[in-house]
Amino acid sequence: MKKLKRFILVGGPASGKGTQGRYLSDTFRLETLSTGALLRREIENCTALGRRAQSYMDQAKLVPDEVVNDIVRTWLADADDSSWILDGYPRTVAQAETLDNFLSQRGLGIDVVVWMDVSRKLIEQRILQRRECSSCNFVVQNSTLEICPKCGGTMTTRKDDNIDAFAKRWKDFESMTLPVARYYESRGLVVKISVTEEREACDVSRELSEKLNVYAESKD
Ligand code: AMP
Repeated sequence: MKKLKRFILVGGPASGKGTQGRYLSDTFRLETLSTGALLRREIENCTALGRRAQSYMDQAKLVPDEVVNDIVRTWLADADDSSWILDGYPRTVAQAETLDNFLSQRGLGIDVVVWMDVSRKLIEQRILQRRECSSCNFVVQNSTLEICPKCGGTMTTRKDDNIDAFAKRWKDFESMTLPVARYYESRGLVVKISVTEEREACDVSRELSEKLNVYAESKD
């Protein structure tokens, strides 16, 4: 049986990528790079990269491909080649092509692309409720929570979690990130997970686990 070890996690804003990324990371013991979380940390630390990214993120725009590609290349060069998760990357077909080239030069490939499928309406509701820990990135749907129940850090509302920013992020998602799903679908790599209002994060994790097992068994 083929071991499923190099994961990509893609989906709309607030689709639960971060939460499911942590689940996959714990279940399969994988190192994770969340490009969004890394960029937010760079902004907090006022680095040159943070300043560059901030001008885009403040306008709810995607950070340019070359900036994000560099981040991912640097991270992958230091990561264990055999297993990792990329959360929130690639978000454009150009990023996906760059990643393919980089991996194929090293004789590597992607094993699974987890696609978090969620409706615009649900994402909009979630974004208005969402709070994220500034230390460990734990996410809750509770707009009044101040202290992180996991690590005691400060819960904050992300700057880009508001209606206007959301409308822009959704537009970019439809025009630039949905084609990434099709790009990987055509290669049979996508495991689609449906996120609905009724389903708790743990239900989504269970389905993810089941689907990945079936997927693993069907691949040699
Ligand atoms: P996320 O935490 O994944 O929702 O990402 C937050 C923000 O970081 C996005 O709205 C983008 O501005 C930026 N970002 C994260 N990943 C990427 C990427 N792969 N390409 C371009 N911008 C990104």
